Amino acid sequence: MTIMVDFNSKYSVETELVRVEGNQDQYNASSVPIYQSATFRQNRLDEMGKFDYTRSGNPTRTALQVHLAKLMKAKHCFVTSNGMSALDMILKTCKAGSHIVAGDDLYGGSDRLLNLNIATYGFHVSNVDTCDLAAFEAVLRPDTALVLIESPTNPLIKICDVRAIVKIVREKAKNAVLVMDNTMLSPILCNPLDFGFDIVYESATKFLSGHHDMMGGAIAMRSDELAKAVFFNINACGAGLAPFESFLLLRGIKTMGIRVERAQQNAIELAKFLKSKGFSVNFPGLDPNCKSTVIFNSFARGPGAVMSIHTGSVELSKTLVESTELFEISVSFGSVESLISMPAYMSHASIKKEVRDQRGLPEDLIRISVGIEDIEDLKADFENAITIAKFKKL
Ligand code: PLP
Repeated sequence: MTIMVDFNSKYSVETELVRVEGNQDQYNASSVPIYQSATFRQNRLDEMGKFDYTRSGNPTRTALQVHLAKLMKAKHCFVTSNGMSALDMILKTCKAGSHIVAGDDLYGGSDRLLNLNIATYGFHVSNVDTCDLAAFEAVLRPDTALVLIESPTNPLIKICDVRAIVKIVREKAKNAVLVMDNTMLSPILCNPLDFGFDIVYESATKFLSGHHDMMGGAIAMRSDELAKAVFFNINACGAGLAPFESFLLLRGIKTMGIRVERAQQNAIELAKFLKSKGFSVNFPGLDPNCKSTVIFNSFARGPGAVMSIHTGSVELSKTLVESTELFEISVSFGSVESLISMPAYMSHASIKKEVRDQRGLPEDLIRISVGIEDIEDLKADFENAITIAKFKKL
């Protein structure tokens, strides 16, 4: 079952976050109930109801999908068990042996999944720096089936000119399905379908749910044909999000506006603070005069809350990461609490070291996801970590 919604809302996104319209509960419950049922009884054999089996459809999941489709400015949305299954459902719309173009600074798990699909379905994947438009154009083929990008990239926070990417793909690879992983920004800050992408997907484990108490994925599109193909895959393998997780995600989304706003404000301040301490900071918009800021502002409404920093020394990075108290050492991002990690040892460890080196992912890189704590506490915590590192003469 696919869902159809009107995505031309008259309200702002902050209002829409809390206005859940897909709730068809018989008692008009304000909060969408959890329909914790695998099956749904049918009245007659020749008259099937709206739902029959939760792998194919469930009222809690449908309410969430209708809600997210609106927020992601889509006609169709599907929620899956996590972000990786969302990507898998998209990749599996491609025929065996397809040519796929993907960024060279993608989330490590996306890279691993692409490699698994290369081995299983014989996909030919060209990884390329999507910020280098000439290099990007050079790897496109008339028969390229799918293009996958992230912007900002993860974890180097590089900005690609996504509008230029759309233009190039439409000219050089007319049949390619253009896909953007928008996990870093969320629908509050960026709507890739508005500037020509065919599919946008997100790990709902991050900003969408916001509390690291669930895992989920969301896939949105406007094309009926693509929706049919993606839903076929989800139903076939049962990747749809479970009712309880759908409920948690519906709840998390309601506070996403204030969460992202606060985390972003904290991130802007922390980025400036870390720069003032002499670190090289990757964060969109830090330098208002640089070209990438202009590009970034052309497709996003704010820098988000994830940054990465270079310290110049793996030992110094390790000490900083381990000396902070408020920043939890953890993979992932987009939660209310601040998190810190070293991608080469954690989220991107599944990429071989030679490949990481080749793609310019430094071992000393620290990724920080800023939460909603008091910014003065966060700065003081980092200041303390810097003092510990100095004490160790690092
Ligand atoms: N996309 C990005 C940018 C991510 O960082 C992640 C996870 O960290 C994913 C997708 C995968 O999402 P999940 O962990 O929910 O499968």
